[in-house]
Amino acid sequence: MTVSKERLEAFEAALRASFPEGLALFTDAETLAPYARDESDLGEFPAQLLVRAANTAQVSRVLALATELEVPVTPVGARSGKSGGSLAVQGGVVLSLEAMNRIVEVNADDLLMVVQPGVLTAQVDEAAARLGLFYPPDPNSAGYCTMGGNVAENAGGPRALKYGVTRDYVIGLEWVLPTGEVLRVGRRTGKGVAGYDLVALFVGSEGTLGVATEITVKLIPRPRVVKTALIPFRNVADAARALTSVLTSGVWPRTLELLDEVALQAVAGRGLPVPAEAGAVVIAELDGNYEEGVLSELAMLVDQCASWGSLEAVVAQDEAQRERLWAVRKEVSPALRALAGKKISEDIVVPRSKVPEAIERFKAAGAKAGLTVATYGHAGDGNLHSNVLYASKADWPRVEVVLAELMAITVDLGGTITGEHGVGLAKKRFLPLEQPLALRELQRRLKVFFDPSVTLNPGKIWD
Ligand SMILES: Cc1cc2nc3c(=O)[nH]c(=O)nc-3n(C[C@H](O)[C@H](O)[C@H](O)COP(=O)(O)OP(=O)(O)OC[C@H]3O[C@@H](n4cnc5c(N)ncnc54)[C@H](O)[C@@H]3O)c2cc1C
Repeated sequence: MTVSKERLEAFEAALRASFPEGLALFTDAETLAPYARDESDLGEFPAQLLVRAANTAQVSRVLALATELEVPVTPVGARSGKSGGSLAVQGGVVLSLEAMNRIVEVNADDLLMVVQPGVLTAQVDEAAARLGLFYPPDPNSAGYCTMGGNVAENAGGPRALKYGVTRDYVIGLEWVLPTGEVLRVGRRTGKGVAGYDLVALFVGSEGTLGVATEITVKLIPRPRVVKTALIPFRNVADAARALTSVLTSGVWPRTLELLDEVALQAVAGRGLPVPAEAGAVVIAELDGNYEEGVLSELAMLVDQCASWGSLEAVVAQDEAQRERLWAVRKEVSPALRALAGKKISEDIVVPRSKVPEAIERFKAAGAKAGLTVATYGHAGDGNLHSNVLYASKADWPRVEVVLAELMAITVDLGGTITGEHGVGLAKKRFLPLEQPLALRELQRRLKVFFDPSVTLNPGKIWD
């Protein structure tokens, strides 16, 4: 489905007339081509027109015109999303926020930072670190994903285990409604409960309720000491059981990442110090202000894992070793794709106690269909990136069967179909498994309240 040539031309003419000084508007296939895909592996969805917004006024005008002329608009950050949220499934306009990439304010006294949506996540924490402060959300894509995309998806990451996700840090937003109206919601204070919490509603709304044009995040003091250990296990079942016991032992690590035997195979030879008999690893990281305290808690954690049969742990001796461990962890997703040719990455969450059972049942579901299911991710949170690996399009019907089974198992275990990537296009057919009709209808009514002509990111979350 695309927008008629006449309607699109009317949109373009009206937009150009609104900004006689010029704006970054493109219609040529070459410039539009990269915007047709993201990291969801869902295929190509070319838009017909691209606007790279330079300021809030341009965002507002694009959205107002889109509502008036009924032209679909899809906001886009860095296109690292894994649920297809930035794909222009109905054609029309892609509204890129990547050029709005300025850090507006870093305020150490008030422990906050104000950024434009195109600022990269890693840049926020780097700016905070220069003042001894900390912005904890750390999606593994932090080096290239944008804060606007993080707000839209309520992104998490390894450190969510101790520190929480994007929503826990966003305290204020400049927000452009689908009708073009510009709102300021939230606060700059440590606390505040006036009115409904619209910030909480907009964070995680997947680009369907409006566009973030300015984001205020809170910062916290930066822990001075960070220690990281790589803990190998013979098999993933032992590792998964150990994780649950660690969290009830009184130690609260900031990350507990798990890689199963397939993920390990995918990154073999890239410098992870694991013995040959290892069939899984856990990357555990603790932080605090005193080296002795952090190291003694790390020793407690390693002992706890040993009681579940872990092999000899390796503690990173310096920053370079720590960074190398995390660099390999960040390579797991592309390495799995390289291993099989193609993959679909899920981000389900189950109650922590159900992680061992979930992994076992996912692998069995894959095996039944003759496909491999690799599992890695933020297992300390119960958030598992289970990846269905496949070689070619011909395998797709079997992949569909396995995906449906993974989702059904997740919900059966009391879990949720998405922990951080969002519903987008990829998971909307599974939402009814988790949420009853009445709840979905209520949310659909909210969508139409904010976006009466349903022109903002249509086809996402809801049909
Ligand atoms: C290798 C890899 C590792 C990853 N690891 C993690 C991880 O650990 N944790 C995690 O949570 N995610 C992870 N992701 C997923 C992805 O990086 C996040 O979802 C990220 O938040 C997307 O940001 P983006 O700028 O790329 O947004 P895009 O992919 O461009 O867009 C994502 C959604 O945000 C909307 N959007 C973009 N900007 C705005 C805006 N200003 N206002 C309103 N809506 C907007 C889009 O319409 C779309 O719906 C990973 C991805 C990759 C490829």
